[in-house]
Amino acid sequence: MNLDARIPSGPLAQKWDRHRFESKLVNPANKRKFEVIVVGSGLAGASAAATLGELGYRVKCFCFQDSPRRAHSIAAQGGINAAKNYQNDGDSIYRLFYDTIKGGDFRAREGNVYRLAQVSVNIIDQCVAQGVPFAREYGGLLANRSFGGAQVSRTFYARGQTGQQLLLGAYQALCRQIGAGTVAMFPRTEMLDLVVVDGHAKGIVVRDLVTGEISSHAGDAVVLATGGYGNVFFLSTNARGCNVTATWRAYKQGAAFANPCFTQIHPTCIPVSGDHQSKLTLMSESLRNDGRVWVPKQKGDKRPPDQIPEGDRDYFLERKYPSYGNLAPRDIASRAAKEVCDEGHGVGPGGLGVYLDFADAIKRLSEKGIAERYGNLFDMYEKITGESAYRTPMRIYPAVHYTMGGLWVDYDLMSNLPGLFVLGEANFSDHGANRLGASALMQGLADGYFILPYTIGNYFASSKQVKPGTSHPEFRKAEEGVGARMRRLLSISGNRTVTSFHRELGKLLWDKCGMERNEAGLKELLQRIPELRERFWKEVKVTGETSNLNQDLEAAGRVADFMEFGELMVLDALTRRESCGGHFRSEFQTPEGEALRDDSHFAHVAIWGYRGSDKPPERHQEPLVYEEVHMTQRSYQ
Ligand SMILES: Cc1cc2nc3c(=O)[nH]c(=O)nc-3n(C[C@H](O)[C@H](O)[C@H](O)COP(=O)(O)OP(=O)(O)OC[C@H]3O[C@@H](n4cnc5c(N)ncnc54)[C@H](O)[C@@H]3O)c2cc1C
Repeated sequence: MNLDARIPSGPLAQKWDRHRFESKLVNPANKRKFEVIVVGSGLAGASAAATLGELGYRVKCFCFQDSPRRAHSIAAQGGINAAKNYQNDGDSIYRLFYDTIKGGDFRAREGNVYRLAQVSVNIIDQCVAQGVPFAREYGGLLANRSFGGAQVSRTFYARGQTGQQLLLGAYQALCRQIGAGTVAMFPRTEMLDLVVVDGHAKGIVVRDLVTGEISSHAGDAVVLATGGYGNVFFLSTNARGCNVTATWRAYKQGAAFANPCFTQIHPTCIPVSGDHQSKLTLMSESLRNDGRVWVPKQKGDKRPPDQIPEGDRDYFLERKYPSYGNLAPRDIASRAAKEVCDEGHGVGPGGLGVYLDFADAIKRLSEKGIAERYGNLFDMYEKITGESAYRTPMRIYPAVHYTMGGLWVDYDLMSNLPGLFVLGEANFSDHGANRLGASALMQGLADGYFILPYTIGNYFASSKQVKPGTSHPEFRKAEEGVGARMRRLLSISGNRTVTSFHRELGKLLWDKCGMERNEAGLKELLQRIPELRERFWKEVKVTGETSNLNQDLEAAGRVADFMEFGELMVLDALTRRESCGGHFRSEFQTPEGEALRDDSHFAHVAIWGYRGSDKPPERHQEPLVYEEVHMTQRSYQ
C-alpha cells in the first residue's frame, strides 16, 4: 500500500506555492478531454464540481438528495474561519495554523494545516464575490466572532445560517456550470461502489433512487466529497441521510481509512429527551461567545435557574479554563460538562444537561442585540423545547457532531488509490484528533475551490491515462455485486426494522466508544458488534422492491455498512493506547483529568487497509513530523 503523504520539502510557508509551481499543468484545450466524477454536492463537492467545470473539465456530479442545495452542509450554523485579521486583534495565518494544530492535539500534518490557513483568506473573497451575505459591521466591513480554541475573532458568519448561505453560493456557481454544459448533475443517485481498474479509480456504480436502476459511470478520476460518518452513533447532530457508504465501499476496494476513531462530540446540543428521537439538534458554538455555561454548585439542586443565586452557581468552564473560559475547545468543554453531570450537578430530566445562560449578555447587548446575532437559533430552541432562551437559560448536553477520521489522502488530497481524491469531511486530513469550530466549512471550501483544482491537473498531466469505459469487466462485476447485495437484503424477511438495529448499534457505540472509552468496553464491543451484525443479516425486515423508490432499502444498505465500519472504529480506538483530542481513553489522563497523549508511540496517523471479510484489517502508520511546532500538553487555562 503506497502511503507516501508527498508533503513538499522546504520552508512551511512556501510549500504550497512551490508545489503549485512545480505541479504539471493541463493546457486549457486539453482539459475537456478529461472526465471527472464528483460524488457529493455539499460545500466540498459543489465547490469542486463548479471549479473543475469552470476550468474546462467535463464533470459529472452525484448526490442522493433531490437537489444539491439539500446537502448536509446547509445545516452549518455558526461560521467559517479565516485568518483575515480584520479585527486587528493579533490574528495571522501562522496563528490560525498554530491554533488548529494545537486544537487537534498534535495529530494533524503541519503542511496540510498551514496550507489550509493560507487558503482561508481566499475563501472569504471568493464567497463575498458570489454574494454570500456575511454579517457586516455598521461601517460595512465584514463582522467576526470567536469560536472555541481561539483567542481572536476570526469567524465570518451569516447569522446562524452560515452553511446555508455558503452552499447557496457554491450551488449558484454549480448551476452556472450546469447551464454551460460542463457539469452534468445527477440528483437522487446513490453511489454504491467504486470501480478500480489496474489499481486506478476509474468509475462508480450508482442506483437511481427513483427508478431503482443500477448503472455505471466511467471517468478519468473520481472525487469523493460524501461527508462524515457521525450517524454510526444513530443519534447525532448530522442530517439523517449522512452515512459512511461511499467511503466504506471505497475502503473495501482498497482505499485506506485513517483515524476512524477520531469523532467529535459537540458540547452544546439540545439534550436527548427520550427513545422516540431519530436525531439531535445542535445549538451553535457561536452561542458561547455570549452565553455562559453553569450548573448549580449543590448536587441535585432542583430550584428553577432564576431562583439559584450567583453564589450557588458553578461557571465550571470559566473556573477551570480562565483564559478561554466558555470558548474552550469542544472536546474539553464536552468532557467538563459530562464530568459535572456525572458528579450529580446536571440539570433537567435525568440530570444530563447544563445551562447556557444569556442573562448577562441580554443586559449588556439588549434582547434585540442578541436576536440579531442568534435569532434563528433561539427560535429553533423554542420550537423544540417550548422554552424561550431569552427568559430562561438553554439546557445543553454534548452530542456526536463531526468525524475527523476519513479516507486517507496525501498532500494532493489523493487517496492511496491513484485517481481517487477525497475532499471535505470525508477525508481525514486537517483536524487531527479534534476539529476547531468553524473549521469544517473552511476545509471543505479550501479543498473544493482552491486545492483539488490544482492537484487533479497534476495527476492528469503526470500519469498516462487509460480509459477502460463501462463495458470493462470490472464495471460488470461491481454492478452484479451491488445488485446481489440488495436482493440479499430484501430476501431476509425477518421481524426487526432497520432503524431498531441502527439504534442498537448507536447505543453500543455511544456507551463504550463515545465521549469516554476504555480497554474493557472496547473489547466488549469487538464481540458485540459482530454478533449484532449477524443478527441484522438474519432478522432484519426490509420492505418493498429494488425497482422503484425504496427508502427502507436505502437505509438498510447504509446501516449494513455502519455495522461493518463501527467495528473498525472500535479497533482503532482500542489500538490507540493514549488519549488525544476527542479520543479519550479513561486509562490515559492527566491528574487534572485532561487527555494524556503518548507522543513516543502514537504521534502518527493510524491507517487501516482492507484485506477481505475473512481477515482482520491491516494497520499502517504515517509518522507525524513536527518541524515548526513543539508538541506540548495542550493548555487552555
Ligand atoms: C448542525 C451542524 C452545524 C454545523 N455548523 C458548522 C459551522 O458553523 N461551521 C463549520 O465549519 N462547520 C459546521 N459543521 C460541520 C460542517 O457542516 C460539515 O463538516 C460540512 O458541511 C461537510 O461538508 P461536506 O461537503 O464534506 O459534506 P456534506 O455537506 O455532508 O455533503 C455530502 C454530499 O455527499 C452526498 N453523498 C453522500 N454519500 C453519497 C453516496 N453514497 N452517493 C451519492 N452522493 C452521496 C450527499 O448527497 C451530499 O451531497 C456543522 C455540522 C452540523 C451537523
